[in-house]
Amino acid sequence: NRVRLAKLRHHQTVTKDGIGVTLAANMGTANDIPSVLDNGAEAVGLMRTEFLYMDAERVPTEDEQFAIYRQVVSALAPRPVVIRTLDIGGDKPLPYLHQAPEANPFMGERAIRQSLAHQPLFRSQLRALIRASAYGHLRIMFPMIATLDEFRQAKAIYDDERSKLTTAQVPMGKIDVGMMVEVPAAAMLADRFAQEVDFMSIGTNDLIGYAMADDRTNQDVAYLYQPYHPAVLRLVDRIVRAGHAAGIPVAMCGEMAGDPIAVPILLGIGLDEFSMGAGSILKTRQLMGTLNVHELQSLADTVLNSTSTSQEVITMVQAAVPGIL
Ligand code: PEP
Ligand code: MG
Repeated sequence: NRVRLAKLRHHQTVTKDGIGVTLAANMGTANDIPSVLDNGAEAVGLMRTEFLYMDAERVPTEDEQFAIYRQVVSALAPRPVVIRTLDIGGDKPLPYLHQAPEANPFMGERAIRQSLAHQPLFRSQLRALIRASAYGHLRIMFPMIATLDEFRQAKAIYDDERSKLTTAQVPMGKIDVGMMVEVPAAAMLADRFAQEVDFMSIGTNDLIGYAMADDRTNQDVAYLYQPYHPAVLRLVDRIVRAGHAAGIPVAMCGEMAGDPIAVPILLGIGLDEFSMGAGSILKTRQLMGTLNVHELQSLADTVLNSTSTSQEVITMVQAAVPGIL
């Protein structure tokens, strides 16, 4: 099967009934470039920039950041590369930022909240990204957006840095600016966000945690992390429909996107891009080649309208896609 999978490296992803889907990779550092290429990713749906900062002993300079972003977008060109602005706080503290201890870090000043509150770091990251855009196809994504106002503020800071660099005649490419949908409030307002963003990407790792109110680091409540819970799937469905109504693509970059039980449901819902650990891409491409999206739409409807438990949903997917797991 490894040989069969390797043959799929240079293929585009198409379902059995001919629907094109983008299979993208998640990555953390420039060291991941070879595996993204070897596994035939059509795009990068999420580069987490936290590692760049967490691996350093001090704030990386704009030039240090620029060198890495340029390396990544140019190595992967012409593929689109989504680079996410800093998502620290929560379970990812940055020692040199001296953040005050928080009783509830997942609900605290993390991600875009931290970026808007401490703008110099955010602005230097945006400048480095805008400069790197001249070397490939860059998309910038803001994490943990909860309100329209947060997105507008982040976008205004981006526009400000972009116009300063334009005045300075710094070369740059076209950049799409989008957001993660991982806070339930943003999922509920996805139709409004879709009017203002270039793309949306669903972060199920956090979305599930916030929707089910379970702490993803606490084993005692791990049973509540339920990707197939109808409430979670309805949020996902809502986001996809909102994106499509506004004519923008919807991606998913949480763990769920590479889960073989979730894939048929997500195809039925109409998700456009699936971004996952590079090692899951070829298996998923092979699986998608055996699936008829038109048949999966009724599976998705049934699951969305059921009161089923996770185990019942797994049984439903297995019945619809014999031999899946
Ligand atoms: C997510 O929340 O699903 C996600 C992709 O972001 P992270 O896992 O980095 O929080
Ligand atoms: Mg997240």
